[in-house]
Amino acid sequence: MKFILYAALISLFSFTAVAQEEVPREITIIHAGTLLPVAGGETLSEQSIIVEDGKITDVVPSYISGDMDADVTIVDLKDKFVMAAMMDVHIHMAEGDLNNPSANAADHALMGVINSRKVLMAGFTTVRDLGARDDTLYKIIEGIDKGDIMGPRIIPGGIIIGVGNRDNGRECNGVESCRKTTRDMITEGAKWIKIRSSCRGGQLCSNEDGAPIFFDDEFKTITDVARKYEIPVAVHSHPRDSALQALKFGITSLEHGTFMNEEAMDIMVRDGVYYVPTMSNLDETERAATNPDTDPIYAEHNMKFVTRHPETVIKAYEKGVKIATGTDGDGRNAGTNYREVEYFVRSGIPNNDALKMATVNSAELLGFSDTLGSVEAGKIADIIAMDGNPLETIEVIENVTFVMKDGKVYKD
Ligand SMILES: [Zn+2]
Repeated sequence: MKFILYAALISLFSFTAVAQEEVPREITIIHAGTLLPVAGGETLSEQSIIVEDGKITDVVPSYISGDMDADVTIVDLKDKFVMAAMMDVHIHMAEGDLNNPSANAADHALMGVINSRKVLMAGFTTVRDLGARDDTLYKIIEGIDKGDIMGPRIIPGGIIIGVGNRDNGRECNGVESCRKTTRDMITEGAKWIKIRSSCRGGQLCSNEDGAPIFFDDEFKTITDVARKYEIPVAVHSHPRDSALQALKFGITSLEHGTFMNEEAMDIMVRDGVYYVPTMSNLDETERAATNPDTDPIYAEHNMKFVTRHPETVIKAYEKGVKIATGTDGDGRNAGTNYREVEYFVRSGIPNNDALKMATVNSAELLGFSDTLGSVEAGKIADIIAMDGNPLETIEVIENVTFVMKDGKVYKD
């Protein structure tokens, strides 16, 4: 009996050994002419990045050709600038034109599929969606995970919690209502909670002295429920006081923050709250401000955004607030996500720090520091390449020529 058992075990082991021999390991080796392994740091030249099973297993000097036992694919990026893929942590993937009131779930699905592809091809392999219209986005995420749709990894923030109507989000009106809405959002699949704590930028009530939309007990209820489920909270805020209110309740990121004051920035530094400015729409705001057909009251309102927003961002940067990149993009501007990084540089932030905001800082905000945001051994292989050197000319990030996500090449 014992003998039979041993024989069975031996045959099992030998079968396993044969099976392993038959499937050679698949390795990709990227030959990187210039590599920025961690944005904010130094570049290295002539490096080999070794990728296996979707992960970076090693980064070594010189161009190596690899293991004879493995099935090796060499990717030649000897004349490129190579870095970690970028992230957009404030986006609306499944939205088209906000001003189209007749858009339905089919429109959202179509926009989601189109936007996903554009964003990935622009070199952004991870996004946080801060506000969908319905549950369409969850279906798109399913499609991307299965490989049926080409797109970035999407971290969904559900539907915006506001004082409800279609534009302002899901209803939070009184403590009981806020508790139910937040719970519902999380059980439906939201990995972040997004609160609209002030008026939209286009509304006059989003001005510097604008009032917060929620009462303290409502705001506290949302953040209490989120904390119960260990779900982080992102807060839309333009006026001074809505930022100060939000920062009382343990949020993870403040979005826009156009008119936040130095007191708010000091609290953000103290509590490690991230700032996601979303400056990418400022050109549109400026166009509206300078258009002679615009009502003078709105023109003046918009102009205040155009002048104050970059000042706020630079002040926050100088104070050491952690800044991440988010475009607030939707169907109108998906694929031009690089513009946020360019806005940072135009506001006076050094190129390398701006790239850090799009990689290291954004990964940190999402809680992905161990897996994403740099080209180092042990990280997921999300890698991009471009011609030219973005540390000298930031605009070269507009033309990403190589995109790898999870070790798979999507653009070459
Ligand atoms: Zn937004």
